[in-house]
Amino acid sequence: MTAWILRFCQNIRVNSHKLTKELSYEEIQSAEEALIRIINSQNGQLIFRRNTPKQYSFTKKNKILKVKSRLILGENPEDFVRPTVLPDHPIVRRRIDYIHQKLQHAGVETTLSHLRERFWISRGRKIVREVLQKCVTCKRYTLRPMVPDGPVPLPANRSNRLK
Ligand SMILES: [Zn+2]
Repeated sequence: MTAWILRFCQNIRVNSHKLTKELSYEEIQSAEEALIRIINSQNGQLIFRRNTPKQYSFTKKNKILKVKSRLILGENPEDFVRPTVLPDHPIVRRRIDYIHQKLQHAGVETTLSHLRERFWISRGRKIVREVLQKCVTCKRYTLRPMVPDGPVPLPANRSNRLK
């Protein structure tokens, strides 16, 4: 959706090259980066500094904070080697919920490992757990049936003798 809005903004500019076909990879990528910049500008930095372990080091690319990992010598994709840092934000929680549903309502660890292929979320396990606890589908299949404490008394019409 953000990519379509950015394309609209591009197309209404005077003397701009009008784009009409399907969204390109670059458009989707720049829309995602714009969203991440908005998320980080709203509330990310304060929460991020307070809860970050000291062994991590960070780098910035296109004004987006990324984790420097030790996997740089492998042939892994760029997003896996330098995952994007995301704070706790409603859009991030929507993304977690989307991935959880896309993975057929996978558990916390599976959802988190899928997220970590591209993103590094501060306090990620706790946030993923909170999002999954609100999933209605998972709740429906994991809740136990309601069982009363003791035997339920019979109604009066079943316990009285017939006359
Ligand atoms: Zn679920």
